[in-house]
Amino acid sequence: MGIATVNPATGETLKNFEPLNDQEIAQKLDQAQKTFEYYRHIPIAQKAEWMNAAATLLVDRREEFGKIMALEVGKPIASAIAEAEKSAWVCRYYAENAAQFLANVPIETDASRSFVSYQPIGVVLAVMPWNFPFWQVFRFAAPALMAGNVGLLKHASNVPQCALAIEEIFREAGFPTRAFQTLLVGSDKVAQIVTDERVKAATLTGSEPAGASLASLAGKLIKKTVLELGGSDPFIVLESADLETAVSTAVTARMINSGQSCIAAKRFIVQEAIADQFTEKLVAKYAALKVGDPMNPETDIGPLATPGILKDLDQLVQTCIEKGAKALIGGNPQDVLTRSVVALQHGNFYPPTILADFPPGTPADDEEFFGPVALLFRVPDIDAAIRLANSSPFGLGASAWTGIQEEGDRLATELEAGAVFINGMVKSDPRLPFGGVKRSGYGRELGIQGIHEFVNIKTVWMK
Ligand code: NAP
Repeated sequence: MGIATVNPATGETLKNFEPLNDQEIAQKLDQAQKTFEYYRHIPIAQKAEWMNAAATLLVDRREEFGKIMALEVGKPIASAIAEAEKSAWVCRYYAENAAQFLANVPIETDASRSFVSYQPIGVVLAVMPWNFPFWQVFRFAAPALMAGNVGLLKHASNVPQCALAIEEIFREAGFPTRAFQTLLVGSDKVAQIVTDERVKAATLTGSEPAGASLASLAGKLIKKTVLELGGSDPFIVLESADLETAVSTAVTARMINSGQSCIAAKRFIVQEAIADQFTEKLVAKYAALKVGDPMNPETDIGPLATPGILKDLDQLVQTCIEKGAKALIGGNPQDVLTRSVVALQHGNFYPPTILADFPPGTPADDEEFFGPVALLFRVPDIDAAIRLANSSPFGLGASAWTGIQEEGDRLATELEAGAVFINGMVKSDPRLPFGGVKRSGYGRELGIQGIHEFVNIKTVWMK
């Protein structure tokens, strides 16, 4: 696929973009390197002023940015606008806190003075996904730029207008023109860019194959990488939980971004004693969801971002059903067309689906279902719940619901995930480090940990 805006609700190609040629790429890398040489010395207070200006632009123009996101990825408009606001939050967070996060840390040793200092490393490449086309980029760019690095964005090929808008925001906010550049290139150019000597490190948010490919190229040249990959987050509901709250949150946690979120709850692991009640309530809530035009503020679930995502998701669902799993609701992409979106029949719509009763050996064991499909499991007790949750190859987030504090403490300790939320849904927050373990990746974004990923943590010893 080329670089283009294709409306996921209609299938219509709205705009094609010419990818950069090799000479243009080389020129941008050169400009990035030259900018780094002086940008790193600009006082942090100045960088903070620009970062706050970027936040103000995001808030002031949130409706315009929201529309671009809704147009390019089919995100329901209300959540697209909220994404622009959340992106402003991460800019303000690092504008306010970077100086403190990057201040020298004195350490007593046998030196007359010893301390740790944090210094920028140079040009950092960010390979980003389309699912949160603003948020994913700002959560990389805000700490990277505040730390004195310069950024290169290779955004997903289906969100070129978002990518260009973000570059423009930093420029308008006052940052030097080349401190943050969008490279309109396909994934075939990533190897060339990451192995270029002017690029010092890279971060990738996306699928496992993309992450593995980038990291192996960077690894050969001893360049640091951060990988934020897929997830199949468990959502455990134990007998002692507040069932009503757990069920309502389950719907939001699964359906956020029409189900296309790395930290969406994907596997619902429910204790046998309350499983019937939970299932009945969940099915009823799914049946009430409105699938349709992302520009309509009443829409709960928009189209999936591309036909490829829909095809992959449906293949996983059909394989589960063929192997003996049951669809309690949904499971047939044709349904959604006849129900509510007849006018949008060329869009990538998928019906809210709940699958249950899995025999061993279905994709529910080890695949990520990236769309509005919930996988429902029953377990006898907390031990079985933890075992099943940890049986996944992924380890991004985990949410667990219980009324008993000891159970909450145990779940927080024993669940293999980068984040565990007890009695709440997993969410990202600039103040909290974000990232995974196992095949969900490594490294952290956000919080103080996020800004320390792409710096030289330098030990200084003086006598
Ligand atoms: P994807 O295909 O891996 O694409 C993500 C980015 O990587 C795009 O910019 C893509 O460029 C590029 N890319 C693709 N193949 C590549 C390769 N071989 N080498 C270098 N770059 C490559 O991922 P996706 O399917 O769009 O995104 C969904 C996935 O991202 C899901 O697995 C989701 O869980 C994960 N995700 C993780 C997080 C997290 O924080 N952990 C957050 C959001 C999403 P093109 O568009 O040009 O192909």
